[in-house]
Amino acid sequence: MTDLGLRPVINAAGTMTVLGASPVPDEIIAAAAAILPKCVEMDALLDAASEAIAHATGAEAGHMTACAAAAITLSVAATMTGTDLALTERLPDCAQLPNEVVLLKGHNCHFSGEIGQMVRLSGARLVEVGTVNRATEALLRGSLSERTTAALYVVSHQTAQVGMIDLPTFAKICHDAHVPVIVDAAAEYDLRGFLASGADLVLYSAHKFLGGLTGGIIAGHADLVAACRLQDQGIGRTMKIGKEGIAGVIAALDRWQRLDRTAIEQEQMQRVQNAAQRLTPLAGLQVTLEADPTGNPVTRVRLKIDAGQTGLVAAELSRRLIADTPAIYVRDHDSDPKSLLLDPCNLSDDEMAFICDRIEHHVNRGDIDRARPVPLAVAE
Ligand SMILES: *Cc1c(COP(=O)(O)O)cnc(C)c1O
Repeated sequence: MTDLGLRPVINAAGTMTVLGASPVPDEIIAAAAAILPKCVEMDALLDAASEAIAHATGAEAGHMTACAAAAITLSVAATMTGTDLALTERLPDCAQLPNEVVLLKGHNCHFSGEIGQMVRLSGARLVEVGTVNRATEALLRGSLSERTTAALYVVSHQTAQVGMIDLPTFAKICHDAHVPVIVDAAAEYDLRGFLASGADLVLYSAHKFLGGLTGGIIAGHADLVAACRLQDQGIGRTMKIGKEGIAGVIAALDRWQRLDRTAIEQEQMQRVQNAAQRLTPLAGLQVTLEADPTGNPVTRVRLKIDAGQTGLVAAELSRRLIADTPAIYVRDHDSDPKSLLLDPCNLSDDEMAFICDRIEHHVNRGDIDRARPVPLAVAE
């Protein structure tokens, strides 16, 4: 890595695409390495991918593409073209096609790319429903028409967590209007629940919790999945996944189903408890454990930072940790500017201990740091 000029990174931010997502386990690297020197029939490999996705999710069929963001674009495209190759080759020109995609305004988040832009990339038109903090069933019903091609539902901690419509209700209203429902569950661990709650297609990132190679997974009804796959002869050509990615993602799905999740969750819980115990005595830090807001089986350490006592606002502590060697990335994209989160997923116990050492080091330098101006926007 050093020959590429890269700094070593400790990732306490979670499975962030900007940090190369997850470290890839050896057995998945081996699956990718095994296929790389060979020529294969890609159609047959995609058939195997479909079977692996169906097995893992309970869906009728599945498809893989470059990433979950690409899966949004392709699944929207699929609802517009069906399995018509001429229409597929015409996109993003949608003239005369129903091309409106309904999305709750509170779901149109920025995951380091904007959900709505991934929709529009297909040629579809985005129709936002409600406001950032409120969407009603009546508004959703009223937004569906013969111009609607699909409804997109986003499950993520980045979306509005209150005032939205739950998935079963959302799906029922859309299905009553004969509108298919696409669920973006890119970072969600639950591979079966969203389909059971009414999704026609559900999208996952392969490189987040699954630890796969970079890829996007589409699971759902066979006819819609076939239409997604057809996009590879259209706009999907710009978003395709390679043989190594497909083999890696199949291996990742297989591994995921064999993992002892309970043991891993216990290990991670122990890691956050140790960190909390270690950090609680430090002056100016308020330490709590926090469950994942969308129900993923992850508990994180929340550090609330008293700028008066530590001389540091949260953003400054985060900046100093990034400047450390190895660079430490904490979860700081939270809406609360006074606190940071430590995510245990991609950490070893030693790395968590090192992070605690560095946090202690930085907050203990309060006397020196108090002389520095505290940025006004987040000053207490
Ligand atoms: C990460 C994420 C994406 C994008 O995933 P990629 O596979 O990196 O493209 C899309 N939607 C949500 C909600 C995400 O969290």
